Amino acid sequence: MTSNISIAYIFHQQQLLVDDQFQLPKVERLASDLCISDQQIIARDLLENEPIPDGLKLVPIRQLLQYWTTSQFEQASKAIQLLEWRRNHKFCSHCGHKTEIHTSEYAMTCPSCRYHQYPRIQPCVITVITKGQNQILLAKNARNKNNMYGLIAGFVEVGETLEEAVRRETLEEVGIKVKNIQYLASQPWPFPSNLMIAFKAEYEFGELQLQEDEISDADFFTFDQLPQIPFKGSIAHAMIMHIVAGTPVADDTKKWL
Ligand SMILES: [Zn+2]
Repeated sequence: MTSNISIAYIFHQQQLLVDDQFQLPKVERLASDLCISDQQIIARDLLENEPIPDGLKLVPIRQLLQYWTTSQFEQASKAIQLLEWRRNHKFCSHCGHKTEIHTSEYAMTCPSCRYHQYPRIQPCVITVITKGQNQILLAKNARNKNNMYGLIAGFVEVGETLEEAVRRETLEEVGIKVKNIQYLASQPWPFPSNLMIAFKAEYEFGELQLQEDEISDADFFTFDQLPQIPFKGSIAHAMIMHIVAGTPVADDTKKWL
């Protein structure tokens, strides 16, 4: 490999250029590329009207989850988020001047007022709720067109602890109170820049009462009669399997699959 060839994450909207084996292409590095790891791995957007190179294809990122290891997905996740951040911070949010890319850290700096803009992540709690020894709460998102049942999740609000976010989201979305909230694991989720923070909790009291614009159906399901659950590779899948089958949510080798 010559020194100016890098492995490239090349994005077009929510899709990524990969070969037939879902591996990343190697390209000549450009000055405008965003370096993900030294200069060996870069990220860039596919330019408007730029042809797709022979042997490569655009594949939706969510689809790649099932073919990739956790570390591959986490690196892709970082690439997506950094590109999105750079795209959205071309101007200083303090004084409006055009920003510059910092040479040694992930920051967009303002040459006029010196304000630094760093990438932001949005913390989002996701909770697997159990009742008794063999029941799990699963809910169908009102925006989902399919028949998949997932977990209660939502963004952490300003000034709130993670545990408060778990209690508030659960109460808002399904009307019940939970207890014994315990941290499980986390997963960067680049749609657009979330950090999913996983908890388990136990049902305490209350009747299921759905927030209809968010949840179209929810119920406690026994472990042997689960509906369709989120796809393998998502933290929700790992959390549900952890509860019903005892598998680790994230083990030391960081494999979700
Ligand atoms: Zn400024």
